[in-house]
Amino acid sequence: VSMISVSEALERLRNQCKVLVDDKKIKLDDGLGRVLASDVVSAINVPPADNSAMDGYALRCKDWRGSDHALEVSQRIAAGTPPRPLKAGTAARIFTGAEIPVGADIVVMQEKCRTDGQSVLIEALSDPGANIRPKGQDIRRGTTVLEAGQRLRAQDLGLIASLGIARINVRRRLKVAIISTGEELVEPGHIAGPGQIYNSNRHMLKAMLSNWGFAVADFGVTVDNPKVISKVLTKASHEADVIITTGGVSVGEEDHVKAVVESLGHIDLWRVAIKPGKPFAFGDVLGAPFLGLPGNPVSAFVTALVIARPFLFDSQGISHQDILPVRQTALFDKKGSPRQEYLRIRSGPDGVEIFEQQSSGVLYSTCWGDGMVVQKPGEDISRGDSVDVIPYMLFN
Ligand code: AMP
Ligand code: MG
Repeated sequence: VSMISVSEALERLRNQCKVLVDDKKIKLDDGLGRVLASDVVSAINVPPADNSAMDGYALRCKDWRGSDHALEVSQRIAAGTPPRPLKAGTAARIFTGAEIPVGADIVVMQEKCRTDGQSVLIEALSDPGANIRPKGQDIRRGTTVLEAGQRLRAQDLGLIASLGIARINVRRRLKVAIISTGEELVEPGHIAGPGQIYNSNRHMLKAMLSNWGFAVADFGVTVDNPKVISKVLTKASHEADVIITTGGVSVGEEDHVKAVVESLGHIDLWRVAIKPGKPFAFGDVLGAPFLGLPGNPVSAFVTALVIARPFLFDSQGISHQDILPVRQTALFDKKGSPRQEYLRIRSGPDGVEIFEQQSSGVLYSTCWGDGMVVQKPGEDISRGDSVDVIPYMLFN
């Protein structure tokens, strides 16, 4: 098997990807992180009518006769109360957000006015339309403001609310089954006996998947036994849209996942040129897409971010998910390798430092810093070089 590049692996994966979930209506307030299943089109103008951007006086420009000619104050318009048409030759006291009365074409801010309550003296006028926020300035009726595939953020929910919409059509959450494999694994809270280590992947993946808005079906740990693995995988294929395992996909005698998946569907072992991250497997279990992540925790973490995430986002129907690295200065030297490396780094005002121990078993390297430098295959990095950094935040 020859090595394939990270981008080729992603292309292969995403080419065969389809949206795996149908849609449902939910309440707006439950929408954070959910994915729109249909476009949001505004049925109204926002704002619905011309309104004042200032506290001041609304009038008709042509009624103004100079700074020493008082105008009668004929009405008072607070935000939330509908105005009467403006009586000719008068001004209306008006407040920010209040509707402009029919007939007025300017608002003069109160700082430029003197009043005794009954009438008002206006220092100077600017052009017609000044301090008036026209109807539809924010959104015009009929505009598509958000498109299907948008993962909803706080500002999107605010925008939808501003259109008066209380229920939204979103994709059902993609259900992802996770299974940790490994005879040596023991759960936190229990005593690790001789030869045992704690299961970190399970808890890390669960958090990553929920952070991305997926429903997690946690199938716990399986021992390294083909019958047990087969049973769990079968159950997972019935209950979930996608199955993710960690560990057991190398070519060791205790790595049974490959053979089992082969017997239930199909599996391709990919030699992806990614470090950390080998080995990675893709296939299906009884029709359910299957992603086999490496067992080493850093490899599991990096492949989950770089390879699994795009696949899962596509399956969820998320349309824009590409991540643009930021350029920063390297404060370290690092020789390149044949694989694309994801170096765990920490950024500061002068650039990025590297965590000394880049071994795929050292999960602390991911916690020490705040992101990764992407080092292209065969590319050396020298102190002072500008490098591609992906802060972990961008994977949210
Ligand atoms: P494997 O791919 O199963 O050979 O696992 C590779 C390495 O990762 C071994 O040292 C395992 O003990 C370790 N490992 C596998 N799964 C986990 C896990 N869920 N949590 C922590 N370490 C793991
Ligand atoms: Mg194992």
